Amino acid sequence: MGKTQRIAIVGAGLGGAAAAGLLQQAGFQVDVYEQAPEFSRLGAGIHVGPNVMKVFRRLGIEKPLEAMGSKPDFWFSRDGFTGDYLSRIPLGDFAKREYGAAYVTVHRGDMHLLQMDTLAPGSVHFDKRLETITDSGDDVHLTFADGTEARADIVIGADGINSRIREALLGVEAPNYSGWVAHRALIRGDQLAKYDLTFEDCIKWWTEDRHMMVYFTTGKRDEYYYVTGVPHPAWDFQEAFIDSSREEMFEAFQGYHPTVQALIECTEEVTKWPLRNRNPLPLWSRGRLVLLGDACHPMKPHMAQGAGMAIEDAAMLTRCLSETGLSDYRTAFALYEANRKDRATRVQAVSNANTFLRTQEDPAWVFGYDVYEQPLREGIAA
Ligand code: FAD
Repeated sequence: MGKTQRIAIVGAGLGGAAAAGLLQQAGFQVDVYEQAPEFSRLGAGIHVGPNVMKVFRRLGIEKPLEAMGSKPDFWFSRDGFTGDYLSRIPLGDFAKREYGAAYVTVHRGDMHLLQMDTLAPGSVHFDKRLETITDSGDDVHLTFADGTEARADIVIGADGINSRIREALLGVEAPNYSGWVAHRALIRGDQLAKYDLTFEDCIKWWTEDRHMMVYFTTGKRDEYYYVTGVPHPAWDFQEAFIDSSREEMFEAFQGYHPTVQALIECTEEVTKWPLRNRNPLPLWSRGRLVLLGDACHPMKPHMAQGAGMAIEDAAMLTRCLSETGLSDYRTAFALYEANRKDRATRVQAVSNANTFLRTQEDPAWVFGYDVYEQPLREGIAA
């Protein structure tokens, strides 16, 4: 009997966890190597579009996510100064009916935990920071910062915007700083009761060069969250994020609507994140190495679909590997790229441009997409 074929995934973020769950469900042997010492409830809010919920349906976590998250009836866009409505995009029951699943906003960490709970016991290895990766042609050799090593038949780089696997494929290159930062803050729902103002379930306040996106992260509405996009000169981004302050927020959103001022007043802690991206990559795989998610197509987060693209990638890659079998990974990788690149690149471009849903438009091309319903377009093996 031949040896068991193994898949290694580097990175247990939102994309890596989705890939691991789906590949294990499809019967593959998968090990996940994550640099963090343990799981933590990282980040803040996240939108989960119907396109992503359809993948979570396969993983068996659609219903629990729906139960824990907020399900806005609309995405509103409003003028930051006057409060005038710029768009009212129907979600709620409309999304279920028209796009085939709910639109949910939730805490990113809660969603990530649900994803991690789908994984086979013992298959996630924490404290494994990938240092070197060598594709010998026959298999792949990985070494980690703690001095341990592993081997695999193929390796999926789900290691985010600073991906080591991308580096192995295309060389060292820092991501581009976009010129914008995002401020992120969580606000206790009970803080809002003192205002005679309406705090809508999912609302983006816009002016010419900046915005503030606001939504609940729980169905109970006890946690409200905002994330901004604000122009900011470059600084030396050694950390993933730094502290900001209420004062900085008041300054950045001077003249904005009273509802926005109230949110800033309620802010206890706020952090500031550089928004970085990359141009579309010339290749997504070589030999036994393949990329997904932010390792492959990082973007400014303004469409709230970056993780969505990582999770769709995971579903398509699983579909392609199931179709060809692991031994024919070259065909699978070519199929995967051929069936993902156009969509991921389009979303990347629209997200970077920050135009999505600012005015009344039909988002069916994003939310109505079902990765399992796409006829597979042929790819050319590298
Ligand atoms: P990541 O989630 O970055 O995961 C990469 C993982 O790899 C991490 O766990 C990391 O520790 C690990 N890793 C890295 N290097 C190594 C190494 N050398 N060895 C081992 N492990 C390693 N997306 C949405 O869909 N909806 C939203 O509402 C949304 N809002 C956002 C708001 C902001 C402000 C930002 C910045 C992003 C937002 N995104 C959103 C985008 C989303 O967070 C990313 O697109 C998504 O996290 C990408 O998933 P990933 O698995 O590819 O990478």
